[in-house]
Amino acid sequence: MLQTLLRSLLTAGLLLQSLLAPARANNINLPDLGDESAAVISPAQERKLGEDFMRQARQSLAFLDDPEINDYIQTLGLKLVSHSAATQKEFRFFVINDPTINAFAVPGGFVGVHTGLILAAQSEAELASVLAHETTHVIQRHIPRMIAESQRLNTQALAAVLASILLASSGRGQGAEAGIALTSAAVTQKGLNYSRALEEEADRLGMGILAGAGFDPHAMPAFFEHMQSLNRLNESNLPEFLRTHPVTTNRIADARNRAEQLTYRQTPESSEFHHVRAKLRALAADNPAEIARGFKENLAQGKYRDADAERYGYALALLRSRQFAEARDEGRKLAERRPNKNAYRVLQAEIEMAAGKTGEALAVYASAYKKAPNDPVLRRAYAEALLKTGQAREAKVLIKAAVQQQPDDPALYKMLAQAAGDAGVPLEAHQAMAEHYHLNGNPKAALDQLQLAVRLAGDNFYLQSSLEARIVTIKEEMIPSQGKK
Ligand SMILES: [Zn+2]
Repeated sequence: MLQTLLRSLLTAGLLLQSLLAPARANNINLPDLGDESAAVISPAQERKLGEDFMRQARQSLAFLDDPEINDYIQTLGLKLVSHSAATQKEFRFFVINDPTINAFAVPGGFVGVHTGLILAAQSEAELASVLAHETTHVIQRHIPRMIAESQRLNTQALAAVLASILLASSGRGQGAEAGIALTSAAVTQKGLNYSRALEEEADRLGMGILAGAGFDPHAMPAFFEHMQSLNRLNESNLPEFLRTHPVTTNRIADARNRAEQLTYRQTPESSEFHHVRAKLRALAADNPAEIARGFKENLAQGKYRDADAERYGYALALLRSRQFAEARDEGRKLAERRPNKNAYRVLQAEIEMAAGKTGEALAVYASAYKKAPNDPVLRRAYAEALLKTGQAREAKVLIKAAVQQQPDDPALYKMLAQAAGDAGVPLEAHQAMAEHYHLNGNPKAALDQLQLAVRLAGDNFYLQSSLEARIVTIKEEMIPSQGKK
């Protein structure tokens, strides 16, 4: 009891801290957002807010750079969106490499999920239930609605929190920028509490989306209960998700009643869900040889939900611990079972690359790529291998296609810069590095790169003006958006 009390005080303290911290940053004036309807911010402004936030967040959060896992989360997220009332279809679901159990929504269509939550979910439907809930916060425009509300009630603390997000996104005050970026990221992750009414709406509409997409809606109360039991088991280590989503007996009961009333056509759990989890386990910070032994034991004892996924994790752990012969064996078994699964071909090629057999690796990639030229995961892995083996020109073609498909991934621009540089096109390399820095929230470095590109553009008028236009756009983002009444 005392412990519970202490913990809630601590939680309240943490929240208060994050509520008050940004207030010290400045005398903050919220931008004039017009009338207090839900339309205080236009969808276009909201999108820009989200994009700006993402760039800032890349400086303070550990974005997971694993194309396979990100692609899985994006696909799962878009499946949910397609069963929602969202008019906006551009969503970006991304993964943060953090063992705590958490997920969060950013205005404009961005939903982040921690690796800890993916591992804590006991079924794909549980993971989907959290994504559906967070997606609903975005679709129902809960943050703009809170801004409107905070203006009406003149709640200083909430206004300050939201202003700090807006401030960070406007890039106001270069000196304070880093601090604000950190604060706003922390706020969104830990401190930004929606009202109980908005939480209830996210649960209710989120569950509708969940069922519509063919997931068992009971997964939502099941996840809540799971969180509650984790909480009981480990009093000192409250899942982050619970800080912003207090799970009460009422909330669970409401969710369960609602689930009873929903009809749904259940689709089987995807094998990808288990593959992603196995990969996360294989890539955990612990000793890879130890992890490999764990997988081996599970396989021997039949302790798994998906045999292929368990073997996949085993092979990845073997690769990490540089046991190439064993890894190669497991990779071959998998590829024989499912010859068209590109993740297995990438695995096989990566094993050969790590073992120094680059010819074999490139042959695996080339044959798989011929069959699936649009698979983003395969394409990027192939491009990386081409880059490493000095085939920059070939790599550049693939990376350009990848960038076109996913223009918001800074890692791809870095690869493009390397490919362009190696291929002897420095101007293109500077352009790509500029986009890399820009997406990573470093506009000054981006401008430096663009200036270097301008010098190389010579008297190519068309190129000069497109570079100048890009410079103007980035400079405008850096200018505080004040005076815009
Ligand atoms: Zn919520």
